[in-house]
Amino acid sequence: MERIDTDILVAGGGVAGLTATVAFATEGFDVICVDPSPPVTSAETDGSDLRSTAFLMPSVDLFRRAGLWDRLEPYSAPLRIMRLADAGGPEEAIRETADFVAEDVGRSAFGHNLPNWLLRREIAARIDELPNARLIAPARLDRLTPRTATAIAALSDGATIRAPLVIAADGRDSPTREAAGIATRRWSYGQKAVVFTVTHTLPHDGVSTEIHRTGGPFTLVPLPDRDGDLHSAVVWMETGPRAAELATMDVLAFEAALNARSCGVLGRLTLASARRVWPIISQIADHLDGPRLALVAEAAHVIPPIGAQGLNMSLRDVATLRDICVAAREAGHDIGAPDLLARYSRARHPDILARVLGVDALNRSAMFEAQPLRDIRRVGLKTLYGLKPLRRTAMRVGLGVETTATGQTS
Ligand SMILES: Cc1cc2nc3c(=O)[nH]c(=O)nc-3n(C[C@H](O)[C@H](O)[C@H](O)COP(=O)(O)OP(=O)(O)OC[C@H]3O[C@@H](n4cnc5c(N)ncnc54)[C@H](O)[C@@H]3O)c2cc1C
Repeated sequence: MERIDTDILVAGGGVAGLTATVAFATEGFDVICVDPSPPVTSAETDGSDLRSTAFLMPSVDLFRRAGLWDRLEPYSAPLRIMRLADAGGPEEAIRETADFVAEDVGRSAFGHNLPNWLLRREIAARIDELPNARLIAPARLDRLTPRTATAIAALSDGATIRAPLVIAADGRDSPTREAAGIATRRWSYGQKAVVFTVTHTLPHDGVSTEIHRTGGPFTLVPLPDRDGDLHSAVVWMETGPRAAELATMDVLAFEAALNARSCGVLGRLTLASARRVWPIISQIADHLDGPRLALVAEAAHVIPPIGAQGLNMSLRDVATLRDICVAAREAGHDIGAPDLLARYSRARHPDILARVLGVDALNRSAMFEAQPLRDIRRVGLKTLYGLKPLRRTAMRVGLGVETTATGQTS
């Protein structure tokens, strides 16, 4: 039976766990990441994650420092403009748009969009090149026993890992969080997201468009051209039954519904991938620390996919914990000490809570069915857009260059 000593054990090899592994290993920590499934690294393989993620600038900074950005940038599409469109009138037509332009807050782009399967491929390749990082998959973290100076982790393959710090990046149902007895608040919306990619006849010009009508937002996110075709990712949120219907209807009927819902903003859309369905919930852990344990990413918080916040919040968790651990090591302190992990939790929890509540409110307004409420939403959009200081603040908070809780800039 293998016994391994390491500085940090990461439970979960999703995008967040893989990124955390690289981020900490690049700082010189010995890191082991475990996951019950090896990463799926092509779009065509069964189980591939067909979502894409719009990485805002603080996330790009983290990738850069972790030696990942040179690998990722060639595959990314910059987002110059985030366009919110209201199509809440009786007809499926856009009646109000508001453009949030990166240049207005002194940036050339809000962020960069990348397919999730490709992220897994490139981050796993970076782990392979780091001598102090290791991915063990398939292997599940089965049991965690915190001791005074370390935690002892029992894996499903019989191995034992001893580490002063365990990072739980094992997803929304995090077994590690459950075993540590950290409570969460979770609520759902009776809503699901249908996720796929499309080709289209008009260029996206680096504009991400979120169209609000009923059921939830319909979002088109720019991707780089594919085989000479214009290409975008789509997240289409709807009530559960309608999402199930959309995901299974034949392609011709689906494309007709798709083109009606997109209101022609990118010309004619053609389905270019499989369709996957994701349940939409909000969830927040009561705190992010446990004995020798730090929660990050969906183990700590889940939000509906609006405004490109979810994984960006997750990478902010990773960056905050990294900075605390690097400072602790330099001072000769234990990186898994309770006061240090409590400091991490206090540093992240208020910002997470504010974003969870903010995205919850946006999602509820995007779901409005009744015409008067849809009209109020249109007025709200107009007001937010018309007041320049409010618009700039919304952009800076959304971009992650200003935190929601303290108003500090980073
Ligand atoms: C439709 C949709 C669109 C989105 N778009 C965006 C976007 O544009 N921008 C953005 O910032 N965010 C976005 N998000 C959010 C983002 O995709 C998620 O936050 C992110 O993928 C979750 O990553 P994770 O690594 O926390 O969890 P997961 O991907 O769920 O990974 C958890 C991993 O833990 C493993 N695991 C489970 N149990 C164990 C165990 N006992 N031991 C070891 N490993 C274990 C699992 O196998 C899994 O691989 C979107 C989400 C959805 C649903």
